Amino acid sequence: MSEYPRYITDASLAKLAKWLRLLGWNTTVFSGKAGRKMMRLADAEKRIILTRRQDMPARQFAGKLYLVTGKDAGSQIKEVITKFSLKIEKQRLFSICLRCNERLLPVAKEGVKNFVPPYVFANCGEYNQCPCCRKIYWQGTHERNSLQFLERLSITPS
Ligand SMILES: [Zn+2]
Repeated sequence: MSEYPRYITDASLAKLAKWLRLLGWNTTVFSGKAGRKMMRLADAEKRIILTRRQDMPARQFAGKLYLVTGKDAGSQIKEVITKFSLKIEKQRLFSICLRCNERLLPVAKEGVKNFVPPYVFANCGEYNQCPCCRKIYWQGTHERNSLQFLERLSITPS
């Protein structure tokens, strides 16, 4: 996993962070004001900074920093993919918890019966779970909607 770039966004880019996670990139959101503290953290965790703050004191930062200009999550994700030439790989989609940024683990169907809606349990055979918040993920409407959103942006997983 370390071969893939990891990101940290400022709080105004939380939606972008979710999309990056959905596409398989380890991305944390810095809750404070984008500034020196965020740069120190990015440096310690070897993360690329994505920010909208134009006057970021970036000269003191040795790592990579990118100033995001897109106004909405759609144009922002497109922008970041282009800027970093990110490859969108099918196998990495939906592999990270959108809430916690933790890598999801496969979980046996028998184990989820009481935690997913009955119609889901009847129709879906594969489940993943977040080891942190325990949220269970499966192929469903959310995934389809997300893929349609990406399709409209001409982002095609390969
Ligand atoms: Zn989680």
